Amino acid sequence: MKKSIKKIVSLTKRKGFVFPSSMIYGGFSSTYDFGPRGVMLKNKLKDSWWKEMTRRQSDVVGLDSSIIMNPDIWRASGHLSKGFADKLSECKECHKRFKDLEEDGESIKKCPECGGKLMEPRDFNLMMKTFVGPVESEAATAYLRAETCQGIFVNFKNVMDSMRVDLPFGIAQIGKSFRNEITPGNFIFRMREFEQMEMQWFCKQKEADDFFEKWLKRRFEWYERMGIDMSKLRKNEIGEKERAHYAQRQVDIEYEFPFGWGEIEGIHNRGDWDLSNHSEHGEEDFSVDGDYPWVIETSVGVERCFLAFLVDSYDELEEGRSSDADKKETVLRLHRKLSPTQVAVFPLIKKEEDLVKKAEKIFDDLKVDFDAIYDETGSIGKRYRRQDEVGTPLCVTVDFDSLEDDSVTLRERDSMDQIRVDIDDLKNVVDQFLKGADFHSLGEKV
Ligand code: ATP
Repeated sequence: MKKSIKKIVSLTKRKGFVFPSSMIYGGFSSTYDFGPRGVMLKNKLKDSWWKEMTRRQSDVVGLDSSIIMNPDIWRASGHLSKGFADKLSECKECHKRFKDLEEDGESIKKCPECGGKLMEPRDFNLMMKTFVGPVESEAATAYLRAETCQGIFVNFKNVMDSMRVDLPFGIAQIGKSFRNEITPGNFIFRMREFEQMEMQWFCKQKEADDFFEKWLKRRFEWYERMGIDMSKLRKNEIGEKERAHYAQRQVDIEYEFPFGWGEIEGIHNRGDWDLSNHSEHGEEDFSVDGDYPWVIETSVGVERCFLAFLVDSYDELEEGRSSDADKKETVLRLHRKLSPTQVAVFPLIKKEEDLVKKAEKIFDDLKVDFDAIYDETGSIGKRYRRQDEVGTPLCVTVDFDSLEDDSVTLRERDSMDQIRVDIDDLKNVVDQFLKGADFHSLGEKV
């Protein structure tokens, strides 16, 4: 089975995970909307990261800072100067801009699109501009944040003072970032509006190397725990020349996508770059005991992570595996903590009122605590396949025996095994399973 982005794009659109944005107006510049299943998966991904970074670590606290901040922040951080710019040549005719255009080591002078004359390359900043207030003047210019972490740095002292934390400690944040990428693409891999999950760890300079290793290791452990195929994950130590302007050391965590290896997360040693610059340009001194803390950062893109988990869990079975399967089946083998829907409930036969009533009651009860769905159309085999395709790990079937003995059949997605469970115990069983219990230990095999 060959995985391709085309297959993922088709599945995610068909099943309500991801839609190209502004579709009825012809789309809009590599932006995407996340549909009902997409937002559920995204939320679970963010929830898992948040718990991993803040709950498991007693010394990491959270923050939600604003997207539009004082532009001086971006001057101090280096984003408005050389640090966050690409060299681009603009066409005099069609005004399109192009990156790195060379042929045989020579710069190309003609526009590859319209043949017009290209101007000399100049810096093009990736930060998105906007105006704050009623006047569109230079003085009113502000920027949409290009990374969430600057909001963390400028709140360093607020957090320290209000939370009574001391070095070493971390601040975690999830939120939107914007970059006017020159060449967005590969579906949701590179977009102009995306979400980041970032954690800044503040420590003494002499501890920075050790903490770098520690966080790198922890981040790998998270991917492993969330069920990703570890042979598809690698570390890429970034050389000095390619590193971001602030980085003392940078290791990218890369996933092998169908289009090749791509960065999903960066672990950075930012030194004292940010805190010292904000101390110099802002009105607060961020030094602690006379020195600026050093920062180890873990920074992951929600959508890139989302794509990696989707690609990783995508599976196709050529033969079909249900008795009435007539064509290729798709199964999303998502980790049970990530599946958009956790449990589906079916009455065996739609026309049997007693079965329907009982199934509806079970569904009403389950949906209070879980992401549950009810489905009564089509054969049971078809309904299983429908859920397999969107990654639902458990399906409950109410059959004629259920009317007699108040038990139901619970079927697990990956093994397709079935167990019999008392209705009274069903919530507990689903809960145990989602917490990681072995399916077969939860009931008698049918
Ligand atoms: P790239 O080299 O691919 O442009 P980067 O090194 O600039 O990425 P960072 O600044 O380290 O990325 O951002 C941290 C994380 O944010 C990345 O690992 C990625 O997951 C995510 N990210 C960055 N840019 C984008 C984008 N344009 N679209 C989606 N996610 C992004």
